[in-house]
Amino acid sequence: MLSRGFTSHSVNGFIGAVGNTPLIYLKNLSEKTGSKIYGKAEFQNPGGSVKDRAALGVVEAAEADGRLKPGGTIVEGTAGNTGIGLAHVCRARGYRCVIYMPDTQSQEKIDLLRMLGAEVRAVPAVPYDDARNYNHQARDYAQATPGAVWTNQFDNTANADAHYRTTGPEIWAQTQGTVDAFVVGTGTGGTLAGVGRYLKEKSDGRVQVWLADPPGSVLHAYVTSGGKLMERSGSSITEGIGQGRVTNNLGTFVDKLDGALHISDEKSIAMVYDLLDSEGLYIGASSALNVVAAYELAQKLGPGKTITTVLCDGAYRYQSRLFSKKWIESKGLAGAIPEHLKKYTVL
Ligand code: PMP
Repeated sequence: MLSRGFTSHSVNGFIGAVGNTPLIYLKNLSEKTGSKIYGKAEFQNPGGSVKDRAALGVVEAAEADGRLKPGGTIVEGTAGNTGIGLAHVCRARGYRCVIYMPDTQSQEKIDLLRMLGAEVRAVPAVPYDDARNYNHQARDYAQATPGAVWTNQFDNTANADAHYRTTGPEIWAQTQGTVDAFVVGTGTGGTLAGVGRYLKEKSDGRVQVWLADPPGSVLHAYVTSGGKLMERSGSSITEGIGQGRVTNNLGTFVDKLDGALHISDEKSIAMVYDLLDSEGLYIGASSALNVVAAYELAQKLGPGKTITTVLCDGAYRYQSRLFSKKWIESKGLAGAIPEHLKKYTVL
């Protein structure tokens, strides 16, 4: 019988509640493969996602190197979980928070960030090589504003360092050092590079670290071709992951990867429903992709292994899509959901 466990201490505010998430044993997939498959419950962070760790990491690094002073401003280009994490951290630490995002983002996302006290600037949705792109505008605004810091989540390696200092050691301790493999999708690459580096170092290279990649990302081809960067094409339902380039965060680790798995949207959406049905877990599509990858890696490596991945956030932020019949059909994914799981498409 697995012990339920409890924390015997209180924590200091929002910041103290970031990290130390449970490692959830995924019974059904483990039994199917004869390995132990675990998902790190990052949806239990106080801002609701794995990005709370990176948000805290980049803010604390800016404080430590003197760029961020009391009453200062944090600026980031983000449409998702990083903005939410930063908005929370800024309220907790008394900073102003300015978020740039493409004007194609939903009103819900804009409203949520505003409710968390962030100033939201919606700018034209243009590619990265256009100067009006939201990332460049975030950087330019920070440069022109006294006391402002652009946290630059993609290329600021304080992001991966946060996972090296926290997520990696937690996984090592929670598996009592028995972890054999870690696999995860990447957006900035912070989670993959930070956790990967820690587990490799701690195990003298024994732990295998794999990338999981959705359609529309160039990284799977980059890793499996030995470093060829293709044009980005296609898209995925897995928000928050997939990349068109090797970010600085990923760059610190990409040559140490043991392999990469390409995971289709069909498999990811089916896993969203399957984890709900078989484990009672209500998780987003990037988490589901990670679990598919862990399952496939378990099959590849053979029985008796301990495989870990990350449950990045809950399905709450995506439920109007992931559980909507119309949306599922519009993505051509109706056939991907097994008959006995169709009852969950209630919207
Ligand atoms: N899943 C979700 C839902 C995310 O928001 C992100 C962050 N963009 C990731 C996965 C990937 O994390 P990372 O940026 O550390 O690669």
